[in-house]
Amino acid sequence: GGAGTASATRQVKLEKESELRIEVANDTPLRLRLLNGTAEIFGTELPPQIWLTFPPHFKFAVFTWYGATIEMDGSTETDYTADETPMVSYVNVHAVLDGRRNQAKASPESSQGPRVIVVGPTDSGKSTLSRMLLSWAAKQGWKPTFVDLDIGQGSITAPGCIAATPIELPIDPVEGISLEMPLVYFYGHTTPSQNVDLYKALVKELAQILERQFTGNAESRASGMVINTMGWIEGVGYELLLHAIDTFNANVVLVLGQEKLFSMLRDVLKSKPNVDVLKLQKSGGVVSRSSKFRQKSRSYRIREYFYGIANDLSPHSNIANFSDLFVYRIGGGPQAPRSALPIGADPVANPLRVAPVNIDRDLLHVVLAVSYAQEPDQIVSRTSIKR
Ligand code: ADP
Repeated sequence: GGAGTASATRQVKLEKESELRIEVANDTPLRLRLLNGTAEIFGTELPPQIWLTFPPHFKFAVFTWYGATIEMDGSTETDYTADETPMVSYVNVHAVLDGRRNQAKASPESSQGPRVIVVGPTDSGKSTLSRMLLSWAAKQGWKPTFVDLDIGQGSITAPGCIAATPIELPIDPVEGISLEMPLVYFYGHTTPSQNVDLYKALVKELAQILERQFTGNAESRASGMVINTMGWIEGVGYELLLHAIDTFNANVVLVLGQEKLFSMLRDVLKSKPNVDVLKLQKSGGVVSRSSKFRQKSRSYRIREYFYGIANDLSPHSNIANFSDLFVYRIGGGPQAPRSALPIGADPVANPLRVAPVNIDRDLLHVVLAVSYAQEPDQIVSRTSIKR
């Protein structure tokens, strides 16, 4: 291993079942290509000879099953080769899921494929494992549904949302998930603790819509789902994991890098014989990110949502009168007066209450979502948002 490599074109030879772990420099992008052999980035195969450009700060690994030579052009914060990876165990999980998809497809009434949920603490590699499982499945022609419940770092749309989208092709290593027709629910905060009931209501709403779509689509149903979750696994965070497992009827729970969480989930899910709880090793390549870095990458994701990865989108502004816009906030509105409550009851704010918001300076630099709802009281129930 080496750190802080100088800028120059150089080649790295990778032995079979090893990977090149890279953190791109802070100020310049890195170009990289596959010279010979075969290699993949988080489940997506690299095209031979074609230069790919990775933006500053990007953290990733190029893995090879059979050996490869990689060429890099540009400087890195770190790059080193590792031959100890959990990739074999990950691909074994994929093989089991693939078998279940085939079974689902072959059954006369075309039953349900695997519903996988990936759980673990922050920086255990959940998003990365989800991505690999999706890309490997898509490579074999399945159309698994990716559900991202991580409102802090979501990889389908902007932070603050939960979302789902079918994955039809291996995920692009640089561009990420292509946004054809995602189903998006706007939560509006970066942690569920701001309004736990709203978070649960949106998760339930999303699950119901997907359930309905699956009923009419045997292909998606057999392909199943991969659900990525938040890194919050204590207290309410743990409850929210159980809520998600239950709401989506997950039948495969993959626990990354935490013995305690694994044994808790195994014990609590023992009563459900059709749910498998599996413990998987965390990859040594997963990079821990400080909360400051996470916050930065969140701002970056919001920017990217509007402007694109390479500044290739140009959002246009629309001028509208304040009187033509209605802005609402969910939860946190004024509480019912004590006099209006049954004796002995405490006034608690209704977490799903939709309250009008004044348009003033407080709304500067705030991300809002445009709702499909016809009436304010439909905002939470049965409405996703316009993107
Ligand atoms: P989590 O979803 O659990 O918070 P991620 O999957 O997002 O964790 O991983 C954290 C960071 O580590 C990401 O930037 C990811 O690209 C990077 N990463 C994951 N696996 C590897 C690896 N094997 N080598 C290098 N970087 C990796």
